[in-house]
Amino acid sequence: MAPGSGLAVEVRQGRHLRVTDLEGLQVVDMAVFNRDNLREKLSTSNSRNRYLPRPGEKYAPRDHLEEGDWLMSTLCRPLMTIVRETPEPKGVHDACNRMCDRFLYEVFYGIEKDGCHEIISNAVAPYGLLPEDIPDTLDLFMKYPHSCRTNHFEILDPVSRPGDYVEFRAEINCLVGLSNCPYEPCCGGKCTPVKVDVYEDENYRPEPILPPDEWRRRELGRRRGK
Ligand SMILES: [Zn+2]
Repeated sequence: MAPGSGLAVEVRQGRHLRVTDLEGLQVVDMAVFNRDNLREKLSTSNSRNRYLPRPGEKYAPRDHLEEGDWLMSTLCRPLMTIVRETPEPKGVHDACNRMCDRFLYEVFYGIEKDGCHEIISNAVAPYGLLPEDIPDTLDLFMKYPHSCRTNHFEILDPVSRPGDYVEFRAEINCLVGLSNCPYEPCCGGKCTPVKVDVYEDENYRPEPILPPDEWRRRELGRRRGK
């Protein structure tokens, strides 16, 4: 994906999606939809705050997502799992703020330019999705921490080096909208290309795709040994 370009990619259940930052310091914004019901889509808030604590783990509403976490939908069930991320430290992907858009460029920079919102909207338009359907994205590699000292978010350089990647496994059939972010201030001052791969997981054993309530009951039963 060239800088500023978009992509819509279907990732069927069990397949992996890998996004590789070829030159480092590049942000990629990612929206996810249930391919079989496009009204159900990524909720970064649910992903941070609605998860199943591991045995002995105390629940805490989180400010970020990292390897092992689910990308949860607006109906509170996993769309994808973050199975691997190579940048160090892990978990440096903005999951708290909305993507860049024409509003941001015009109001703060006085220029007319498409942002990730327009880029993703155009990419998924062939599926009948409209700009107002696009959820808040997970912004891969974006370092945008909240400062308690200044009481606002701070844009810092990503920690990704050339060849670093994040990889997801689809837990249901997904449609993923990607934008290779054109906002230089969050990409180390220069936007660069990224690579997207989708491939089969030979070890994946298909799970039934259940409605959210049934999925939750089954998952809780499994964890409680029933
Ligand atoms: Zn952007």
